[in-house]
Amino acid sequence: MEEISNYIKTLMAEDLKEGRVKEIITRFPPEPNAYLHIGHARAIITNFECAKAYGGKTNLRFDDTNPTKEDSEYVDAIQEDLKWLGYTPNHVFFGSDYFEATYEKAILLIKKGLAYVDDLTQEEASKYRGTLTEPGKNSPYRNRSVEENLDLFARMRAGEFKDGEKTLRAKIDMASPNINMRDPILYRIIHMHHHRQGDKWCIYPMYDFAHPLQDSFEGITHSCCSLEFDNHRVLYDWVLANTEVEHISHQYEFGRLNITGMVMSKRYLRTLVDTKKVSGYDDPRMPTLVGLKRRGFTPEAIKNFILSTGLSRVNSTVDYQALEEALRDDLKLKALRPNAVVNPVLVQIDNYPEGQVEYLDCPNNSENEELGSRKIAFSRYVYIERDDFIEEKPNKKWKRLAIGVEVRLMHAYFITATGVEKDKDGNITLIHATYDPATRSGSGFAERKPNGNIHFVEKTTAIPATFRQFEALILPETEETKDLDFMERLNPNSLSVKEGFVEASLKGTKPLDHFQFVRNGYYATDKDSTDDHPVFNCTVSLKSSFKL
Ligand code: ATP
Ligand code: MG
Repeated sequence: MEEISNYIKTLMAEDLKEGRVKEIITRFPPEPNAYLHIGHARAIITNFECAKAYGGKTNLRFDDTNPTKEDSEYVDAIQEDLKWLGYTPNHVFFGSDYFEATYEKAILLIKKGLAYVDDLTQEEASKYRGTLTEPGKNSPYRNRSVEENLDLFARMRAGEFKDGEKTLRAKIDMASPNINMRDPILYRIIHMHHHRQGDKWCIYPMYDFAHPLQDSFEGITHSCCSLEFDNHRVLYDWVLANTEVEHISHQYEFGRLNITGMVMSKRYLRTLVDTKKVSGYDDPRMPTLVGLKRRGFTPEAIKNFILSTGLSRVNSTVDYQALEEALRDDLKLKALRPNAVVNPVLVQIDNYPEGQVEYLDCPNNSENEELGSRKIAFSRYVYIERDDFIEEKPNKKWKRLAIGVEVRLMHAYFITATGVEKDKDGNITLIHATYDPATRSGSGFAERKPNGNIHFVEKTTAIPATFRQFEALILPETEETKDLDFMERLNPNSLSVKEGFVEASLKGTKPLDHFQFVRNGYYATDKDSTDDHPVFNCTVSLKSSFKL
């Protein structure tokens, strides 16, 4: 794997050298309100790899301070995702486990005259907040006494008030040029069941208050997050400077990762699932980690891709093809290369004995001898790809089968097509051919060069199989589509299903087995497979489908 090098790592090295920290401790803090997507992989890999580079540690912390959207289904899924990517957190924490300690810090701020209970409604508060160009105004409740604030805050906790009736706010500066510093809300009232805390709490801390404290409680040295938190950093520092914590953590931001043709917003992914446009979060077209896994993406390819995109303080959009390249690079020498015919047509070799089946040697991966070899069947009947045949050779560039043209069936014999049979609609139902026994693979035959090499699957041993092929879920942005909502830009051809055959060696294949179907692309076995009928997802084509 590529060596990671970025500005966060450089900062860590300096902090260690200057003795500002003894050990690097980072954390990945997802909200358990959705499945992780490939954008999250950047946050995961950055946090884990940077810490690992210095022998440090990384915690997984579920940021479950907002009870309205969270679910334990996501808690489990996120842990599975991390495991799949090959990362083991040092500790698994829940932000909600710190509710009591966070509450204590709020009391401390009240006592220091740095927090007050506000009665402004949400609407009023936003009027008082001011704008980017105008300062805000102080709330009329800003100067309540410490005693009154302590009393009201305790009663907020005790459930005496309705949602939205009161908030606890930090007393900072309503004229600050940074709106986040204009007396930010620290606590709000939400009467709702929490997935871990049950009904214990009806006041919940805001992210900007809870997060720095949680980082501090865990001794996080480098709190790395995406760029949208940039102008929250001053508040992060304010919270830690004023709450008498033992450990001061520091926040560092990195750019968000976007990939062409992939939409990663949680809202959009949820809509796709809820409106049944996809089969679920793990639909192989989804940019979720569970979707990519099912599609056949490997953790190594994802890691290499993420590292190759670098890390800086700007949001970046990377071409989907870079991800595809990373996959091909990873799978090229690892994947077995069995024969599969995705769009089959039957060939009858008229001069080959009826009823005879012979077995021929075939390397498992012609570029990697270490993967060994196997025997493949050959007989009078073989399937080839419909696209590998044309009745009349159109030009010199045609390097496949045609009537009167000889090709090599890879790892078997040369065959020449002699004629076709068609149904009443004119579709070819059978190709007649002859073979030359002298051209057997491995015999050293060198008298003629065939017109090309095509793959095949022997009919009597073939296993019927389903092949799913994918295109991007959303159509590319063009002049006509640029103002449309993503849901209006859905690609109607994002999934196509083909019925064909694979060779007998694929019997018993299990979900997530990876293959290169020789001339078709990389595929992975899907969980919808049965013993007699495997289903394969196309992970990536062999070559870039990019057209100029
Ligand atoms: P939301 O804002 O809807 O909660 P989120 O994508 O920020 O969505 P979190 O669960 O909070 O979701 O994300 C956990 C971490 O992953 C955060 O630190 C966030 O910055 C990071 N992250 C999410 N998406 C990306 C992305 N596309 N590129 C880089 N980091 C990301
Ligand atoms: Mg977030």
